[in-house]
This record gives sequence, structure tokens and C-alpha cells, in this order.
Amino acid sequence: MIRLLPPHLINQISAGEVIERPSSALKELIENAIDAEAKNIEITLIEGGKRLLSISDDGKGMNKEELFLSVERHATSKLPTDDLFNINFLGFRGEALASIGAVSHLKITTKAEAEETGLSLEVNAGKKSEITPTAHAKGTLIQMRDLFYNLPARLKFLKSDISELLASKEVIYKIALAYPEVSFTLFNEKKKLFFFPKAPSLKERARDIIDASFMENTLDINATRDGMILKGFISIPTYTRATSKDQYFIVNGRAIKDKMLYGILKAAYQGLLFQGRFPIAVLYLDIPHQEIDMNVHPAKTEVRFQKEASVRGLLIGALKQALATAGHRTSTTLGIGALESLSKNIEHNSYPSYSSSRDPSSFSRNSFNPSSFQRQSSPQGTNIFEDSVNTEFRQTPLDLENGFSVKTPSPFMSEEDYPSSKENAFPPLGFAKAQIQKTYIISQTQDGFILVDQHASHERLTYEKLQKAYTEQIKTQLLLIPEVVDLTESEVEALQHHKEEMQKLGFSYDRFGQNAVMVREIPALLRQSDIKALTKDIAEILEETKTAFALKERIKDILASMSCHGSIRAGRELSLNDMNALLREMEQNNFAGECIHGRPTYIELKLKDIEKLFNRS
Ligand code: ADP
Ligand code: MG
Repeated sequence: MIRLLPPHLINQISAGEVIERPSSALKELIENAIDAEAKNIEITLIEGGKRLLSISDDGKGMNKEELFLSVERHATSKLPTDDLFNINFLGFRGEALASIGAVSHLKITTKAEAEETGLSLEVNAGKKSEITPTAHAKGTLIQMRDLFYNLPARLKFLKSDISELLASKEVIYKIALAYPEVSFTLFNEKKKLFFFPKAPSLKERARDIIDASFMENTLDINATRDGMILKGFISIPTYTRATSKDQYFIVNGRAIKDKMLYGILKAAYQGLLFQGRFPIAVLYLDIPHQEIDMNVHPAKTEVRFQKEASVRGLLIGALKQALATAGHRTSTTLGIGALESLSKNIEHNSYPSYSSSRDPSSFSRNSFNPSSFQRQSSPQGTNIFEDSVNTEFRQTPLDLENGFSVKTPSPFMSEEDYPSSKENAFPPLGFAKAQIQKTYIISQTQDGFILVDQHASHERLTYEKLQKAYTEQIKTQLLLIPEVVDLTESEVEALQHHKEEMQKLGFSYDRFGQNAVMVREIPALLRQSDIKALTKDIAEILEETKTAFALKERIKDILASMSCHGSIRAGRELSLNDMNALLREMEQNNFAGECIHGRPTYIELKLKDIEKLFNRS
């Protein structure tokens, strides 16, 4: 039997599209306040907005007739013509209040300028009360209590208070970035979490929301094309984050999630960033109304661009230009170019005498096969965390835990002392001859040489050790002087939330006021690292991760971040002993040929290839 659904069910079903969690209700309600020309918006959350979400504004307010209609489905004051492309407000679907009223206890208190007294109206599970007069200042107060109290199935999907709070904060950040002329205050459980005063410019607002140091490390973007205007700021390539969360795109006043836009940003920074690092960006794009369809998604966070190619061209052009004029093209791009031209010379026939017969595998990455060498490592050599490998190639332990240095020179470390009577005259990764650019090690092998990326390879080794430590027992180091690390409040909350798991990783800390943590203990392997930077990176990853459940999936990122901080940097001078110790350590580790991001840690050039290069064979 087909039946027409009763209105209250229809309302509940459509409410699901718009109101998914407290933060999605908050987004709609803030947009309404901005549409009503509010200049000051104050938000209060209790239990992450699940118990109470209230928002008060000093906008136009509503008279009796408007209030009555406001909670009806598809009732809006914002679409004066029937043109769905001519949208001058954030709202236009006339659904938010009706939806919130269908799934919570909703109370609206409002007063329009011209009215003498305020009015209030309640909606409980879709049922409207009478409108009653109440004292109220000009503006509107919306209170949403007990979201989904009548829909237990949906209630179950709501996350912890902290996760919901973080989601709401993100919603406020996005809107606040777009409307610097409006002030925003957030109270959580009666405590004031932040106040963003009316800001004189987009930049001032971004400073309040992202952080002050970002503003000292930005490139300004200003460009136009085909009637579109692009402005905003992006970070210089050396100022990055561990996650992509500080990337904001605001299109015609709305924060938009758009794969193409994220993709363009990534493309613009191609080759300029380390793996796993993300630029910060706040970009504002204004497009003529008729060229953009905002009505793709009920929450209006997705759009369709009519002239996609043009949008792409505007963005990529402006970003690339800004990055190029910044003079921050890193030497890595040059290096890659040089390598490519070298291999081109080999592949294409600059040297016709050998080009056809060239064995393509002989200029190889990581041609060393560790398994053939393993027989020489000690049986207990797997306990790399204790660093207790002892082979004939390395007598002195590489003291990774005290920063990277070798305390006493080993008689077997250098080439002169290497027992030449051995059947294996050379260890597989050879002997270090030099360090170039304080970044790469040149090591002579039995039949050629290898070029080792010192940071990537050490990072790989540290990662393996940390990973092991996660499943077994971690050696930690109590800090003599605990380190106080300044963070954003939600980062502090995220760290607090994951305190126990982080302790398992050897990382102990306590909250230190509202915006800082005090780090007390760290994995011993990371003794030499910059604790402030490390903590900040971990906090960023955790903040993005939000729930404890998801931490397992991010553990790799956290370990990667730790290993990066705990490893010798490019740019650090190494002695021949240090270099040889690193090579020996790599030989002990099956995975040392690839860095944690999957790139090679060293490349090998065989003598016969070198001879070919010089046309000698
Ligand atoms: P929409 O925003 O799409 O019009 P809503 O359900 O969010 O739909 O709101 C319905 C109507 O209620 C709005 O069109 C507006 O006229 C009125 N309204 C909602 N919130 C406010 C507010 N904070 N101040 C003044 N009017 C409001
Ligand atoms: Mg609305």
C-alpha cells in the first residue's frame, strides 16, 4: 500500500539531511544571524551542543508574522524572486528552523526593531506552541535543547562532547574567517572559550583564528580573471602543518569543501614541501552569482562551478606566481632536475656507443639486497631498540639515543682498518668517503658508489624503532625541566583526550592552563629533538583525528612525525665515523632502503655505469 507520509515524518526525514549533529545546526543558525545583519554573535554549548546549543544575535529580529512562518518548511524571506542562482543570502532553502524544530526542543525569542515587545515561540518535535510576548532586546535568541531526543537511532551516532565541541569550533572558524566585521564569542559549559572581536581586515581575523606566526609567514594572493576575484593568504613553503586542516576556501562568503580546490593547492606547492606536510591557506573567491550553483548539497558546503577551467586557471596562476616570487623554490627541485638529466643522458643517446646495450637495471635504486647480508648479523640483532647489534662491520654502537654520534672510534669503522682478508672485502653499503651539502653521504662500494640521503635513512631507522616500541615496551626519558608548549585550546583538548594512548607511546604531559601543556616525559629516542615543534605536530594530528577510535589509524602519522623530529637533519655535519655507523645500521635493517614516505633512502651507481657515462666502456 502506498501512503502519503504524515508531515511530522516528512519533517524528520528531511531534517536528517540538514541537521546531522550539533555543529550542523550551529552552522545554519550562525548563517541566519549573519543574514539578519547581526554584528555580534554569542554561542553557548552544553555537552558539546547535544544538551543545549544557544545562539544570540543583535540582528534584525522577527515580527509576529515572520516568527510564525520561520519554522514552517520551505518558508524563507531570502528568495524574493524565483531565481535559484540569484542568491544574496547564506540561507535560501527555508529548512533549517523547521528541521531543528522537528528533532529537538526549539525555542525562539526575538524582537524586531519596529516592535514594542519581544516574542517567543517553542517547537517540540515539530509541534508549534502559541506565540507569547516576552521582554527581549533587538535581535534573536535561538535555543536548541536535547537534539534527537525523539530519534534515539540518530542520537546514537553523536560523538563525545569534545568531538562535537571541536566540530562546532571548526564551523565557527570557517564563518568567522569570512565575516571579520562580525564578532564571535563561544562559551562551553559556561566557560568562555574565545572571543573574536570585530576585525578591521580579513588578515586580522585570520591572525585571531589561525595564529600570529602564520601571518608573518604568508604570501598575499590578489588576482582577478573573467569577473572573478581571488584574494587571501597562503603560507611560505617552509611554514607548514602536519595536517591539512588549516586550509580554508571561502567562495562567495561560504566555506566550501571542494576536491578541486584542495587539489589545486597541492599542485601549486608540488616539489616545495616535505612529504606529509601541508601548507596553510585562507583563500577567498568571489564569482558572479550566475556562474556558480550553490544548491548542490543541503548543507551548502559543495558547489558546482560553471566555468571550472577558468576557476582553475585563476587559482593555479595566482598561487604559482606568489610562490615563485617568494624565491622559495627549494634546492630539491634542482636536484631532481639534475638527476633526471643524468639519467636522460644514460637513456637517450648522448653516448651512442653504449645506449643500445645499456642494462637499465644497473643504474639502480637500492640494488643492495639485505637478505643476502643478513647472515652476518647477530642472531639477536632484531632488538634494534636496544641498539645491540654487533657485527663484524660495526663494533661501536651507533648511539642514536644520545643524538647521532659515535663515542669512540671503532677500529673496524674505517676502510684502512677493515679486515681485507675477509671474503667480503666491502660491507654492502660500502665506506663513507664524504658528506656533500651536509645532506648526502657518498659511500664507495665494492663496484661503484652510493648516495645516501642522511635524513631519510635515519628517519626510517628511528621509525622502525619507535614502531617496535609501540607494541613492546618503550624506553622513556624523564625531562629534568618539563617543557611548556603553547598550543591552541582545541589542540590542548585533543592532547588531553588522547593522554593515555600517548603515554603508551612514551609521551607524557599535563594540561598547563588553557592554552598549553607541560611535557614531562618523551621517548628516549627523541631526546635530542625540538620538543615544542614535536608536540605541536602531534597535537595537530590528534586534533584532526578527534576520536580515540581513529587514533589507531593515525598512529603511523604520529610515529612518522616523531621519527622526523628524532632524526638527524639534512644540513647537519657528520664525521666519517658517524656516516659509517649510519651505513652499518642501515645494513641491519631490512627496510632501510625506503624512507617512511616510500622514497628511496639511497641510490647506487655502479662502476660500469660511471664508465659508460664517460664513454669508457
Ligand atoms: P532560510 O535561512 O533558508 O531562509 P531558515 O529555516 O534558516 O531558512 O530560516 C527561516 C526564516 O526565519 C529566514 O528566512 C528568516 O526570515 C527567519 N530567521 C531565521 N533566523 C533568524 C534570525 N536569527 N534573525 C532574524 N530572522 C531569522
Ligand atoms: Mg537559514
